[in-house]
Order: sequence, then structure tokens, then C-alpha cells
Amino acid sequence: MGERQVEFRNVSFRYQEDMPWVLRDVSFTIGPDEWVAVIGHNGSGKSTIAKLMNGLLFPQEGEILVDGMPVNEETIWDVRKQVGMVFQNPDNQFVGTTVKDDVAFGMENHGMPRELMLERIKESLSAVGMSDYEQQEPHRLSGGQKQRVAIASVLAVSPKFIILDEATAMLDPKGRKEIMNTVHRVQEERDLSLITITHDLHEVTQSSRVIVMNKGEVWMQGSPRDVFSKKEHLQEIGLDTPFVSKLADHLKAEGVPLTREPLNHQELLEELW
Ligand code: ADP
Repeated sequence: MGERQVEFRNVSFRYQEDMPWVLRDVSFTIGPDEWVAVIGHNGSGKSTIAKLMNGLLFPQEGEILVDGMPVNEETIWDVRKQVGMVFQNPDNQFVGTTVKDDVAFGMENHGMPRELMLERIKESLSAVGMSDYEQQEPHRLSGGQKQRVAIASVLAVSPKFIILDEATAMLDPKGRKEIMNTVHRVQEERDLSLITITHDLHEVTQSSRVIVMNKGEVWMQGSPRDVFSKKEHLQEIGLDTPFVSKLADHLKAEGVPLTREPLNHQELLEELW
């Protein structure tokens, strides 16, 4: 076993041979305990990256390593045990008639013993605050509850990496915040690495690292503070900066001295006092 990380090494991908490349020479590493946010315009290749990471697609060029293990047809089940994925629309990922069955399904795919499955169902539903819903029919749940169950299903398999592909996009801001707080807490408790694909800039500012995609290439990567301080570079590809960042610019233009790029309201207030 290698170190705990996901590594993209010069990955290029296209959906068909006669179609343009969707990813070109993409390289990055996601390490233990990191929360990496992937941002970029629609069509820039973010979901394709998620699918490659999970072994749903394979690159034509380059290599993807999960825990030092090359992702290919032979390793696919091991990879999926390590890398869990939650999508935008929870309705597309429900298969069971009850919440409990649904959480069990992913584990059945991995051939886990029944005793362990029952234990994991309890643990993972409790981790996302859904213990009371074991016998509920998934379609009766609210959007936020459905996403919690989808996350529990992934957690039950005990992965080391969780990818959220616009998993909060269908929720209102409050629901989004609740889910992200839950995920972040679970990430810390279980020592997971998190990869979020999102348009929510507030969410991005909370991550430990940002990868900016543009037309299938990595445009830049770094800490949220680094990335959002390079405003011209982001504007070149028409990407926005968080509200606090814009407010800080406005204040600077008015002659208010700021010593750093504030990432949230708290930091901006500290700068002003
Ligand atoms: P993003 O997640 O950043 O919106 P995607 O990875 O979904 O980007 O898409 C990248 C490019 O690949 C887009 O041009 C999209 O049209 C194309 N694409 C995505 N899925 C398929 C597919 N199944 N077949 C062919 N082209 C696809």
C-alpha cells in the first residue's frame, strides 16, 4: 500500500476518439485530511475528474493512483471502496425501499458480512443525524435528508476519500450549510479526505485547497487565500471571487489599508479593527 493520496499524473481524457479532449495533461495530488474544492465553469471537466477518480471512466493518457494503486478495470472495486461519491440529485442514487436498505446496498456490493453491515448502518446514519429514519421510505425525505442518507451510504463503506459532486446544489443556503457542517465534522472524526465540486464560493473559502479548472486544464491551484488573491488571473477566465473579497477590494479602493486577503466576514472585521 502506498501513502494515502489520490494522484492524477498527466491525465488526458476524451469521451470518444473522434471527440475533442475533455481533460488535458491534468496533474494534482490530494493528500490525507485535505479538503480540496474543484471549481470552474460548466463543461470545464470537473465531473469528469470525479468519475475518473472513482473508476467510472478511465483515462486514455496518463495515470491515476489511489493509495498508490493504479485505477484500472482490475482494481476498480478496491478503488470504489476507498473513494466514495455523492452526486447532485439524491433521487438518482436511491435503490432501497427503506433508508436502511439503501445504506446497506453499497455494502452488499462490497460483500460485507451481515453483522458488520448492521453495525455500519447504525454508525453512519448516526454520523449524519438520521438514526430515527432507518425504516423511512427515502422518497418521503426532504432534499437535505436525502443527501444525508446518500452520504451515510458512502460512509458505511468506510472510504478514505469522499467526492461531493455538486451535492448541495439542489438545497437552499441553510440546507447547504447544514450538510457541509455535517460533512466537515465527519471528515475530521473519521480522518477523511474530501473533494468537493461546487459553485458555492462560501464553501470554497472553507476548503484547504482549491483547484481551478478551465477548458479541461488546471488553471491554478493553491489555498483559497492564494487563489482568491489572484483576481486578475481568475477574471481572465470569467470567474468570480467571494463577496467578502469584493468588499475588501472596494474598501482598498476607498483607501482603507488591508494587510491580507480576508476570506470571511470575521477576518474582514479583524482587518478593520
Ligand atoms: P463540468 O463538471 O465542469 O461541468 P464535465 O466534466 O461534465 O464538466 O464535462 C466536460 C466536457 O465533457 C463538456 O464539454 C461535456 O459536454 C463533455 N461531456 C460530459 N459527459 C459526456 C459524455 N457522457 N459524453 C460526451 N461528452 C461528455
